[in-house]
Amino acid sequence: MEATSSEHPGPALRLRLEVRGAVQGVGFRPFVFRLAEELALPGWVLNDARGVFIEVEGPRVRLDRFRERVVAERPPRSIVQSIEAAWLPPAGYGAFEIRHSDEAGAKSALVLPDLATCPECLAEVLAPAQRRHHYPFTNCTNCGPRFTILRALPYDRPNTTMLGFVLCAACRAEYEEPRDRRFHAQPIACPQCGPVIALWDASGAGVVRGGAALDAAAQALGEGRVVAVKGLGGFHLMCDARDRAAVARLRERKLRVGKPLALMVRDLGQARELCEVPELAARWLESVEAPILLLPRRPHAPVAAEVAPGNPNLGIMLPATPLHHLLLHACGFPVVATSGNLSDEPICTNEYQALERLGDIADLFLVHDRPIARHVDDSVAWLVRGELRLLRRARGWAPLPVTVKHELPAILAVGAHLKNTVALSVGRQVFLSQHIGDLETEEAMKAFERVIADFLRLYEVSPSAIAHDLHPDYLSTRWARARAAEDGELRLVGVQHHHAHLAACLAENGAEGRVLGVTWDGTGYGTDGTVWGGEFLLGDAAGFERVAHLRPFRLPGGEAAIREPRRAALGLLWESFGEALPDEAVAALGRLFDGDELRVLVRMLERELNCPVTTSMGRLFDGVAALVGLQPRVTFEGEAAMALEWEADPAEQGAYPVDLLVGSQGSGAPAAVGSWGPIFLDWGPLLGAVLEDTGSGVPRGIIAARFHNALVRAAVQVAGAVGEERVALSGGCFQNRLLTERLAGALEQAGHAVLLHRHVPPNDGGVSLGQAVVAAAQLKAGGGT
Ligand SMILES: [Zn+2]
Ligand SMILES: [Zn+2]
Ligand SMILES: [Zn+2]
Repeated sequence: MEATSSEHPGPALRLRLEVRGAVQGVGFRPFVFRLAEELALPGWVLNDARGVFIEVEGPRVRLDRFRERVVAERPPRSIVQSIEAAWLPPAGYGAFEIRHSDEAGAKSALVLPDLATCPECLAEVLAPAQRRHHYPFTNCTNCGPRFTILRALPYDRPNTTMLGFVLCAACRAEYEEPRDRRFHAQPIACPQCGPVIALWDASGAGVVRGGAALDAAAQALGEGRVVAVKGLGGFHLMCDARDRAAVARLRERKLRVGKPLALMVRDLGQARELCEVPELAARWLESVEAPILLLPRRPHAPVAAEVAPGNPNLGIMLPATPLHHLLLHACGFPVVATSGNLSDEPICTNEYQALERLGDIADLFLVHDRPIARHVDDSVAWLVRGELRLLRRARGWAPLPVTVKHELPAILAVGAHLKNTVALSVGRQVFLSQHIGDLETEEAMKAFERVIADFLRLYEVSPSAIAHDLHPDYLSTRWARARAAEDGELRLVGVQHHHAHLAACLAENGAEGRVLGVTWDGTGYGTDGTVWGGEFLLGDAAGFERVAHLRPFRLPGGEAAIREPRRAALGLLWESFGEALPDEAVAALGRLFDGDELRVLVRMLERELNCPVTTSMGRLFDGVAALVGLQPRVTFEGEAAMALEWEADPAEQGAYPVDLLVGSQGSGAPAAVGSWGPIFLDWGPLLGAVLEDTGSGVPRGIIAARFHNALVRAAVQVAGAVGEERVALSGGCFQNRLLTERLAGALEQAGHAVLLHRHVPPNDGGVSLGQAVVAAAQLKAGGGT
């Protein structure tokens, strides 16, 4: 022991450390305990709602060493944001102890996300002689559920859904033994004292319990049945991924037509049979976050075509809990593992609710009796520009905050309409919720309200303001208004949709000051009441100037155009040519519509009836996709744009012309942005070239590539004209990897610094973060109502 070495102890002192960050549920207290024991320093450690408190006393030299080693050797899963030290006179402690949690104080301790099963626990579960052999709820201080079992802070067993499971003697001994890897692991459990699984039929009648339930579920999957599996943050719907009929049945029952389905595979080896798995992807698949990764599928991957029709990628994940590991081992084949919900509703978390909501989808229910405190979906990510980038932020990341540079007032940001998330600022942290979904169903609205109530309770914050989208009809906007009407103290701050995208990208990158935001997506309510989406905003969190945008066009039928890209094509042609359509355009429309349909829509355009004006980049993608013969109708937003991206021939370097016009003068690319108004990106010449190439039989892959390249070239020209060095790329269009990689590369070549999203999605899942940051800046400047 170091304490017995021949040092000159000097007078004893007491050191108090206050450690803040993600330090609960990661084995921080046991680590401190072992370190204090090793250095023979008496004192105590405790979790409180703000973090971990430590007091130790002894000679200064050993206290200094203790302090250094707390930082240097802290547990691998912990995130230390700050350590404050205070020196005090000794209190005469006799030994070192782990004290009971202190409930007082502001709740700012970081709640840790759920952590996928660690290699030690997995080995233990698979080894025959262990007492946790085949036990689906095995975990330790390095792995297991956290956010999905937490009911209140601080993170201690009575505050989790493990409250009802009384530890057996063997588990208690591990829990209390500081040298054990389960010392103070709050969700510790074993077959004697922990949760149990069972297999139910669709009426809720028990078929079998315990280990036999896993084998029976695996067998049912092998026979082509659909099994609903209760996991960490909700139910998955599973079926054999190789079985075309089973996958088709699942799609049909779930009312999920086109969207790709995620797969769960047994291990990395099985992942490599299905997809190309580069080294970085392998590391992320096996990480504690264990996201669904979109990876290029192998040519003859043994997976039914119905899993991801026409898609060059498969979304695959590894099991994140022992339950899933055991099930995949019992199956031996990859399974479809899609969210346990109907269509776009939020994921089911409770077995009785699941019977009701999923009863018509699943044949069997593999359930357990550990309650899920809140829904958390699987995160979805892919690798772009050599880094993992999230498309859906949930398990593994939620609810970790984004840390900003300055303290923010407490603001609740209610997010966008699709891919909704909410955010709550507490000091310098903006806590970003798990993915909630599209606020289109009653279930989704309930989940939205539940997550808000959950966040406010967890962090014990009463917000002083609510930030919302400018769209007056979004249910989130209406909710915010109703809430403010009830509470006269609450201020309301409306945040423009693309401004929120820009601010989210700034906040995630820890950047301040003015940048050029290239914010491209499908739909966002503009300050002029039109539908924006192909925007260049120059600004920061406090404000923006719309320096450039797509040339506006009309969408016949408004919202209906999102489901029918052919309508966007018609809107573009109408804006470009009016009634004097060239032959190629007439031919294209003839392929897309029957005569009556077309006449009705043209009448609408002529009378400007239900034909909102838009500058949407998403709709430009849609329109071009429809014109080249891809996806005249879609089942989800972005489907046509995805098809166009996949079609593009990466070798093609040509680009269609896009004219940059200033105001209405049409004088070409300006030298600098001034008082003469925003730059128009006139896609008219591009549209003409697409029609011409389509008419003369140029391969679709070449046309798709020239279209992407045209947008890249135009955006680089705008950035040059604006003259801002830093450019942020945000908005749903940057889920397009080809566009993102080409544009970021071209901007860098032109001397710009590019800000991209990483762990906050570029799509509307990141909007709530941006809203919180913008609202804070505007309140500071005296805004809000
Ligand atoms: Zn473990
Ligand atoms: Zn036990
Ligand atoms: Zn958006």
